[in-house]
Amino acid sequence: MNTNCLMPVTARPDTVFVRGEGSYLFDQQNRRYLDWVQGWAVNCLGHSPGVVVHALNEQAAKLINPGPAFYNEPAIELATLLTSNSCFDHVFFGSSGAEANEGAIKLARKWGQKHKGGAFEIITFVDGFHGRTLATMSASGKAGWDTVFAPQVAGFPKAILNDMDSVKALINPNTVAIMLELIQGEAGVIPASQEFIQMLRALCDEHGLLLIVDEVQTGCGRTGTLFAYEKYAIEPDIMTLGKGLGGGVPISALLAKKSCSCFDYGDQGGTFCGTPLVAAVGVAVIKTLLADGFLQGSRQVAAQLAAGLLEISQEYALGKVRGSGALLALELGRNIGPEIIARSREIGLLLNAPRPHCLRFMPALNITPVEVNEGLKLLRQVLKEFQ
Ligand code: PLP
Repeated sequence: MNTNCLMPVTARPDTVFVRGEGSYLFDQQNRRYLDWVQGWAVNCLGHSPGVVVHALNEQAAKLINPGPAFYNEPAIELATLLTSNSCFDHVFFGSSGAEANEGAIKLARKWGQKHKGGAFEIITFVDGFHGRTLATMSASGKAGWDTVFAPQVAGFPKAILNDMDSVKALINPNTVAIMLELIQGEAGVIPASQEFIQMLRALCDEHGLLLIVDEVQTGCGRTGTLFAYEKYAIEPDIMTLGKGLGGGVPISALLAKKSCSCFDYGDQGGTFCGTPLVAAVGVAVIKTLLADGFLQGSRQVAAQLAAGLLEISQEYALGKVRGSGALLALELGRNIGPEIIARSREIGLLLNAPRPHCLRFMPALNITPVEVNEGLKLLRQVLKEFQ
């Protein structure tokens, strides 16, 4: 196959995937791969799960897109499901995590104009990741992103995760919000501490700032609860979702409390915002996550994976195992991540290394104990070669 017509934006292996089934992907030669990347934590129910296929088929035959200026049933149902299972009141749907985060940034700036004398600065974090639009790249704290498409969008001073003094030092009359991932995924699965998040909430209350959590990666069951903020025993003002929300199809969401849901007509929108096709899938995914025992089962199998990684770390004298639920990382102690990924792929295991010194594990939330054991065995096989 000639791949020359695709814009070369990333290095890709030669493998071409043609089919997916649960935890497995199949290439053109019908080789099977156990997939612990799942589209970067997107396919929360695995590849082509029945509920998603059914929702797509049924909705496609009924109504795909009446246009964003009309109501449609699946979008209303999904917004109702999300608000009744969270602390938020209003939902705006987009197609990608970056789009949801752009919406969150716009909403905070609008709120600053209306209620905080034009304050517009949003404190974000070193090593944070919020997407690839100009504003979300500026909000991100990835090394090198401050110059790659200079000039950046202004107004995103960077603090350090779990360091309250670094946040306090940035607060000034222009500050309107603090925005962060509760677990920094791209940085290598670095969790914010409970104490830090609770202090951030208190700091926001003290200074009249909005607390925005980017749950594009941590939301929708990934960390073992429907949303990661639940575990921190706080209520954010704004939350964004993406990835798992569509179980593989592109839908994201910006959720806000009524107190800060202050867009005027025309401030926010988009051609593909909340089409019934993708919203019907979102409904199917969220209902599956909320079904009796689903998240509990997912927590159990994720704990099995974490325990297995810990054993492996001890066996091979590697570093820490971090994370929560089915978002885990294993520190390798040296920069061999890319080689491990390449070798694992050769023997049928798909892995991800957000940093060269660590591996990240993002299996389907409904991965089975047998599949976990199979992956751990393959991982051991590869690590043995790197000893
Ligand atoms: N926010 C977080 C925390 C993410 O992990 C990502 C993607 O990895 C994004 C935002 C961007 O989402 P998308 O790639 O759908 O625009």
